[in-house]
Amino acid sequence: MQSFAFNSFESRTIFGAGSLQRVRSEIEGLGARRVMLVHGGAATKAADAIAAQLDDRLALRWNRVAQHVPVPLAQDAREAAGNSAIDAIVCVGGGSAIGLGKAVALTHGVPLVAVPTTYSGSEQTAIYGLTGDHHKETGDDPRVRPQVVLYDPDLTLGLPIEISVPSAFNALAHSIEALWAPGSNPFASSVAIESVRHISAALPAVRARPSDPEARSQLLLGAAMAGMALGWTATGLHHKICHVLGGMLNLIHADTHSVVLPHVLAFNAPAIPETMARLASALEVPPGSEAEALWDLAIVTGAPTRLADLKSSHGTLNRGDLSRVAAAVDLGANPRPVTSADVLGLLETAFDGSRPSSSAYPLPDRQVSE
Ligand code: NAD
Repeated sequence: MQSFAFNSFESRTIFGAGSLQRVRSEIEGLGARRVMLVHGGAATKAADAIAAQLDDRLALRWNRVAQHVPVPLAQDAREAAGNSAIDAIVCVGGGSAIGLGKAVALTHGVPLVAVPTTYSGSEQTAIYGLTGDHHKETGDDPRVRPQVVLYDPDLTLGLPIEISVPSAFNALAHSIEALWAPGSNPFASSVAIESVRHISAALPAVRARPSDPEARSQLLLGAAMAGMALGWTATGLHHKICHVLGGMLNLIHADTHSVVLPHVLAFNAPAIPETMARLASALEVPPGSEAEALWDLAIVTGAPTRLADLKSSHGTLNRGDLSRVAAAVDLGANPRPVTSADVLGLLETAFDGSRPSSSAYPLPDRQVSE
C-alpha cells in the first residue's frame, strides 16, 4: 500500500449549463466591490454577459491576454489593477486568460473567480507561469488558486474543434501524469482515472458533434476532474518536455500534448504495470496497449501526432532543435530513471510521428517501481 500525504483546499466548484449567470452572486459571496474582469477576444460575448451582471461592481475590464503570460503584459495588467484598486478578479476564457488573472492575483493578493472555456485545467491549480526571454518560469502559490470555479458547458459549444481536441489532450495529460507525478496519491488517482474515462469516451462524440450539449458536458466534467487531479499532485516528465517546447520554441501549448504524451507513456509504462492496468480499464483497451490507444485516439479525433507538423514562432520545428530541447528538460522525479538521451529518443520518435510502443523501451532488471 502506497504511503501518502493529501492536501485538500478550500475552493468552490459550480458545474452546469447556465452557471455563467451565477458570477454576480459568487462575487457578492466573496464581499468584493471592485472587480477586474479578464478575458481574451474569443470570450468577449461571455465577458459582456458577466460585465452586465457585475454592473456597479465592475472596476476594470482587461481584454489583452497571451499564451504563457509574457512578463511585460503581466506588469501592465498589475499596474492597471493597482490604479483601479481592485478587490477581486473574474477571468473568463482559456488558460491564457486565467494565467493572466493569476499573475495579477499573485501580486495583489485578491481572490480569483475562474470561468474556463477550454479544458486547460489551470482553474483548479495554484500553479502560475510567466514567460520572459524564451524561458517559462512556473511557480506554486496558494494566492493564485481560484476560490470559485464556474463551469458552464454552454460556453464550450462554440469552441472550435481544432482547439477543443488538443485542449482535451492537455486535460488527459494532467490526469495521466497525476497517476505517477510527485505527490501522487489514491484520491487524486481515483479522480484522474474517472477523468480519463470521461474524456476518452466524450472526445470522439464531441469530434463528431461539436455542439452536442451532453457530449460537451461530459468532456468538460472530465477536464474539471483532470484539473483537480493536477491541483492535488504536480506535473511530471511529459509536462516538463512540453514546457520546454513551448517556452523555447513558442509552440502552441495544447498542441504539444497529443504529440508527446503517448511517447512518454510508452516509455514509463513498463515501470508501472498496476497503474497501466487501471489506465487500460479506463481507456477500455487491452492491458499493454495504453500508449498505442492514446495515439490512436489522437488520430481518430484529428489531434496532432507529429512534432514536425507543429509551428513555432520561428516557422516549422527542425529536427536540429530537438537536442537543445532534450538538454533543457528537467529530469526530476519519474517512475523510471530517465536521461537526456532517453528524452531525445522520445522526441525523435514524436518528431517523425511514429505510433509508440512500450516494447521499444524494455526495462532493465528490477526497475519496476510498483
Ligand atoms: P488559450 O487560453 O490561449 O486558448 C486557446 C485558444 O482558444 C485561444 O485562441 C483562445 O482565443 C481560444 N478560445 C478560448 N475559449 C474560447 C471559446 N469559448 N470559444 C472560442 N475560442 C476560444 O489556451 P489554453 O489551451 O486554454 O491554455 C493554455 C495556457 O494555459 C498555457 O499558457 C499553459 O501554460 C497554461 N496552463 C496553465 C496551467 C496551470 O495550472 N497554471 C494548466 C494548464 C495550462
